Amino acid sequence: MSFKQCTSCAHQWQDQEEFLADPDVTLLGLQVCFDNLMEGLILFNHSCRTTFSVEVSRFGNLYQGPVYSERLTAGEECPGYCLNERELKPCPAKCACAFVREILQVIKAYPKKKRR
Ligand SMILES: [Zn+2]
Repeated sequence: MSFKQCTSCAHQWQDQEEFLADPDVTLLGLQVCFDNLMEGLILFNHSCRTTFSVEVSRFGNLYQGPVYSERLTAGEECPGYCLNERELKPCPAKCACAFVREILQVIKAYPKKKRR
């Protein structure tokens, strides 16, 4: 089974590396799932102009840093990024949701293959 298939043009990516390195794939946003952070959806644009999502859990291997247990959403330290689907910034709070945003940073900085 391939890593992901585009919901519109049916292009297939064989593995995570191929997917992240594809210059035709752009990171677009994040739909946080507060009940189960690993079930959140990371939104991508494909060059065929489709937006599709991949579950956070599929990228869990990209971040090995600390994961906090307490959720600080809407608290004093929370910048509210998780409430804005298009916000891609890392979170400065020691919040349970922060690791998902760290995964976004790895995806954002992933070296893209040159176009042929
Ligand atoms: Zn496509």
